[in-house]
Amino acid sequence: MKKIPLYLKIIIGLLLGIVWAIISSYLGWSSFTNTYIDPFGTIFINLLKLIAVPLVLFSIISGVAGIGDSSSLGRMGGKTLFAYLITTVLAVGIGLAIVNIIKPGALIDNETRIDNRISYELWAKKNKIEIIDGVSFINDPANKSRVDRIDSKTQSTDADIAAKMKDAEKMKNSGPLQPLVDLVPPNLFKALTDNGLMLQIIFFALFFGVSLLLIPAEKAAPVKKLVDGIMEIFLKMVDLVMQAAPFFVFALLAGVISKMAGNDLGKAMDIFKGLSWYTLTVFLGLVFMIFVVYPLIMKIFVKVVPYKGFFKAIGLAQTTAFSTSSSAATLPVTLECVEDNLGVDKKITSFVLPIGATVNMDGTCLYQAVAVVFLAQLHMIDLTFGQQLTIVVTATLASIGSAAVPSAGLVMLIIVLGSVGLNPAWIAIIFPVDRILDMCRTVVNVTGDATVSSVIAKGEGMIHYDPNKNPDDAFDPD
Ligand code: ASP
Repeated sequence: MKKIPLYLKIIIGLLLGIVWAIISSYLGWSSFTNTYIDPFGTIFINLLKLIAVPLVLFSIISGVAGIGDSSSLGRMGGKTLFAYLITTVLAVGIGLAIVNIIKPGALIDNETRIDNRISYELWAKKNKIEIIDGVSFINDPANKSRVDRIDSKTQSTDADIAAKMKDAEKMKNSGPLQPLVDLVPPNLFKALTDNGLMLQIIFFALFFGVSLLLIPAEKAAPVKKLVDGIMEIFLKMVDLVMQAAPFFVFALLAGVISKMAGNDLGKAMDIFKGLSWYTLTVFLGLVFMIFVVYPLIMKIFVKVVPYKGFFKAIGLAQTTAFSTSSSAATLPVTLECVEDNLGVDKKITSFVLPIGATVNMDGTCLYQAVAVVFLAQLHMIDLTFGQQLTIVVTATLASIGSAAVPSAGLVMLIIVLGSVGLNPAWIAIIFPVDRILDMCRTVVNVTGDATVSSVIAKGEGMIHYDPNKNPDDAFDPD
């Protein structure tokens, strides 16, 4: 057992979890799985999150203090945000290209799409939204009886969905500067205790770190030492948790898949079939990012890390991202992988990665672009070039605004749909397959952060990649 590398053990745990979920669903044991196995998955995520929040705080403070002077900090900060923005826009562009080529929504039966279109027009009329492409189906007398039938159906679903839309309403009611206001926490401890307030924690950490740089060296020194020591402790906690990760990942996957399938695997499969083209399109885009785009960026800008070496180095972070669906929960593992295996200096990782986990979500914005265009196609709506450009902007902002937790991207999709006049309630259509896509897009999000931090490190001359290093050593508790 000792000789099997940790990443392999985790992959075995992952596969066993899936097999267990399928068998237990087949035998009608789902409630046993949900009651006695799934909680261990939750414990795993809780442990990682428990470490992640203070780790972000201390890691950024020590990162900023370690940079040494405020001009290097400004330069590195600027470069980091610029690089994150570029990869995000690139990802949206790839998502749009793929969904326009495959047209997954147009592969659905035409009658269904016409019905969908009519219900969309009814919804748009009710909400006084102008339909841009101008072809009206409800004015066609042949559709009269259909219109009445769909009208009554839409009203009931609208009511069902209303509960899910609270977040979107909140966004609409606030002014354009609200995100800026939200960045500044009125109370540090509240920011630390509330889930998803990572941006506020980052703000405080940057503020604290910069102030630490500005006080006299003899006063700053003990604080820096303390912060570094605390960071070491948290990283050791990650090592310890990772030793049990294969079991935790088994429990996590068994629980997630079993909840998806329930006791009726056949029904779950039918839902997948209906959305299979959409799922496949998102998946293709994500795979393209992981196996083509990032390795290419690494080859062009970082040079020293070979193709295989890149995946070996961050494999554990990727499998953790896949099983937890949360970039924030994965952050502690990402930090260790990038530092120890890719050889990126701590000064870079401790600053670039926590920010990346929070704002850089290439997988999420690619998925949002595909989802919006797919839903439009499903409703026989041809989005104009201008509308697709709007998607680039809003998906970029929505992915930045998404918290690094499961399903955050789906909630933010409401805003992207609204920005091009589509019905936000449509998130319900893709909901059944969202978890599995969430797992895949989180892998991309984390891979993107690792790539950008390597690029920044290379630019600063702070990458020391060692091809002979065994990736498992990073998680050796001794
Ligand atoms: N789960 C993703 C993450 O943590 C966010 C999303 O829902 O797309 O990176």
